[in-house]
This record gives sequence, C-alpha cells and structure tokens, in this order.
Amino acid sequence: MSFESLGLAPFLLRALEEQGYENPTPIQEQAIPLALEGNDLLAGAQTGTGKTAAFGLPLLQHLGTNPQEVRSGPRRPRALILTPTRELATQVHDSLRGYSKYLRIPSAVIYGGVGMGNQIDALRRGVDLLVACPGRLIDHLERRSIDLSGIEILVLDEADRMLDMGFLPSINRILAKLPRQNRQTLLFSATFAEPIKELALEFMRHPKQIQV
Ligand code: AMP
Repeated sequence: MSFESLGLAPFLLRALEEQGYENPTPIQEQAIPLALEGNDLLAGAQTGTGKTAAFGLPLLQHLGTNPQEVRSGPRRPRALILTPTRELATQVHDSLRGYSKYLRIPSAVIYGGVGMGNQIDALRRGVDLLVACPGRLIDHLERRSIDLSGIEILVLDEADRMLDMGFLPSINRILAKLPRQNRQTLLFSATFAEPIKELALEFMRHPKQIQV
C-alpha cells in the first residue's frame, strides 16, 4: 500500500517523501480514504501509531483543494484540532506544518499558561487552521477574539484524555459554537468508554468506526 493509492494529492506526497515516510501505517491506511470521502470517523488509535498524519493529511488536502468561500470581513478558521495538552498541541501543529510545506495554510496554536497577546494577534491576522487546548479556546471565545462559525473540519485528538482531564464541559461549549451542517468530525481516542460514545452520538453524523 502506498500513500499515493490512498488518494493523497501531489503536494502532500512530495512533503511525505521528503520526511522519509515510505508507507502508510495501519491507522493511516484505514482513516485517510474514509476521511477524504468526507466521512465522520471514530478512530481507535494510541499515540505512536501515526494518528496525527491519519487526520492531518485529509484535513490539509481539504483545505488545500477546496477554495475558501468568498466572504468579506476577516478570515475565519476552517479547521480546528482540539488536543488535551500544550505539548500535544505544539507537536500536532509542528507535524502539520511539515506536511503542508507545499501549501499556504496560515495556522495558529492556542494553549494556556502564556499571554493572550500573541495569540490574539495571530487570530487577527487570520488563520485557516487552529490547533487548540479547550480551556484557552474558551477564554478566546469569551473575549470574542475568535469566530468558530466557519469550521468545516473538527478533530478531537486523544478524546479520552481530554475527558479524563475534565474538559467535557469546555468541549460541549466549543461544539455549540460550531456549524452543525456540512461539518466533518474526526474523533481519535485510545479507548471508547461510555462518555466518548455519547459525545460521538450527539455530535457526529453516521461515523465510520476504525480501530488499530
Ligand atoms: P503519531 O502517532 O502521530 O504521534 O506519530 C508517531 C511518529 O511516527 C511521529 O514521529 C511521526 O512522524 C512518525 N510517522 C507517522 N507516520 C509515519 C509513516 N507513515 N512513516 C514513517 N513515520 C511515520
């Protein structure tokens, strides 16, 4: 199995080749074609399985091949990735910067424990892609420094860890700010306890389930 046969665009294949990725991992093989078709996904995968590229590559292909709707006013983010920790947010953001080397996708990473100023400036300049921790994202929503009404793809990364850390109320508040129509949701989790299933039932449409 090759990355090319999964349906990825040349601008991504080139970046993957330069990173030394030769073949997709099992989660990438399963997730990428389904996500490229626009399905919602409930994916069971641990860290280290290549899950970041499994959701990141289809997300970048969507942003890179579907032009932004013509709209006056500031640019709104089109893709949102929620992660439990600052370290994971930074890591996911760095990985996606690498994969999108041949695309122009303005992006920002949002987490707590640092000043709001730089993050507000980045959001004002306009981004297509946002990687964020739930708590700080809520702070931005409260200050109205962010508009999530243009989100086309939502990723919940390590959903079980976010719930373990008590982020369910924040996640629900964030989800309430997203458009319900025409949104694709990709949920990645190592485990699928009842609260994750409930979240999925409420916020996803006919998700395809995959597991590695
Ligand atoms: P992740 O599970 O997304 O944190 O990825 C774990 C590590 O595997 C990261 O260092 C990735 O850069 C690397 N990786 C992901 N997919 C591939 C692949 N298809 N080939 C080689 N390395 C990969």
